[in-house]
Amino acid sequence: MKIFNTLTRRKEEFKPITPGKVGIYVCGPTVYDYIHIGNARPMIVFDTLRRYFEYKGYEVNYVSNFTDVDDKIIKRAIADNVPSEVISERYIEECRKDMKALNVRPATTHPQATKEIPDMIEMVNTLIEKKHAYEKNGTVYFRTRSFPDYGKLSHKNIDDLESGHRDEAHQLKVSGEDEKEDNLDFVLWKPKKEGEPSWGSPWGDGRPGWHLECSVMSKKYIGGTIDIHAGGEDLIFPHHENEIAQSEAANGTEFARYWMHNGFLKIDNEKMSKSLGNFFTVREICEKYDPQVVRFFMLSAQYRSPLNFSEELIIASKNSLERILTSAEKLHDIINNPASAESLKDGEAEIIDGVKPFIAKFEEAMDDDLNTADAVSAVFELVKYINLKTTADVSKALAAELYKTLETLTDVLGIIIEKKEDSLDEEVEKLIEERQQARKNKDFARADEIRDKLLAMGIELKDTREGVKWKRI
Ligand code: AMP
Ligand code: ZN
Repeated sequence: MKIFNTLTRRKEEFKPITPGKVGIYVCGPTVYDYIHIGNARPMIVFDTLRRYFEYKGYEVNYVSNFTDVDDKIIKRAIADNVPSEVISERYIEECRKDMKALNVRPATTHPQATKEIPDMIEMVNTLIEKKHAYEKNGTVYFRTRSFPDYGKLSHKNIDDLESGHRDEAHQLKVSGEDEKEDNLDFVLWKPKKEGEPSWGSPWGDGRPGWHLECSVMSKKYIGGTIDIHAGGEDLIFPHHENEIAQSEAANGTEFARYWMHNGFLKIDNEKMSKSLGNFFTVREICEKYDPQVVRFFMLSAQYRSPLNFSEELIIASKNSLERILTSAEKLHDIINNPASAESLKDGEAEIIDGVKPFIAKFEEAMDDDLNTADAVSAVFELVKYINLKTTADVSKALAAELYKTLETLTDVLGIIIEKKEDSLDEEVEKLIEERQQARKNKDFARADEIRDKLLAMGIELKDTREGVKWKRI
């Protein structure tokens, strides 16, 4: 499998540190509100990466944090007049619900910054001992120039950064934070302010800086060197650059071998922002559209491309997904109610063989830096093939084989093709039965009434050779 590595700016063949295993760390959300639709993109694409590694037989250790101590959380806690952890715990719960709706599997570990403070203090201590960090009045700074490779991920030159910081430095002096040795130095530990959450440390009560948590938690839950580090492209600088500096300076080993960054999601071709009024939470979108459609939409583009979110595009995704689900349902019906043989009939083994090129195409696309757009095209080709080959008289065994292939590929994408049986099903089935009875009794007025009632419930009936079928509209 080839992965575009932000570090080298090239597609590289993926080679795991330990054969058969892969450790992936994905920067997770800051939990001060419901996650927005942009946050869902890294969740969905890197969950798909994880699923694809598993499909290829890897054992995946997937770690993604919740940033649960941060200025935005504190601000929200003050506004709501509750302790900071009430806000973070509430939105971690809500985030987990959204992830579940989007079929994003829980990570192997979801560490939280506030639960890893002792390890963070330990890393800061190591950095101070190694002269990569220093303390000034309760604040600990990383000595950026002590790390010669600074800028290697974002491909920035440290001297250009320095000059870019001049104006900012002036402002910093105004705000009283003028104790840094160098404007490029960044905070590892900040002292307590009244009313803020804090922990005891050798430098007084305070809290960790944001970058530090990912360095510490990835080391603890994956190891000193991790296979893949991922997140949105906005994190390349300074967040990931600073993570590299801290980790490599403290551990003396390479931090991450492959860096993957997803492109941004825009709304109607504009940056999503609260002030423009085009800011949507996952919760809002999922009330309007099936979360599966949202997931499918996210995978309609390769993860590094920018992706535009609009009503029109979501509807297009809904219709495309429908084609896959309809094909799966047709197979499902044959499996449950085969019109002819149970086992394979003459010539059907060849039909099963015929799916191989579509699987190969799917894998080739995924192997090419997780090109889900092309992988989805391969699934459509498979669907077309299935529709062509599944006449009503195919055997149950053939239908089952084709279903299995479709299910295996869509499962890598996190799309569920199995029809959900819910409590509504029973009510619908009862009404359909009643309608059939009414028709038998030639009570067509009642039969029509039931059809209209179901329509109002969002259920459409279709009379087929095999009986009445229904679907949600
Ligand atoms: P945050 O809570 O802002 O730290 O973001 C959590 C994750 O969502 C990070 O990996 C961000 O890069 C990513 N992210 C935020 N906004 C967008 C967006 N509009 N499109 C894609 N990814 C985003
Ligand atoms: Zn991070």
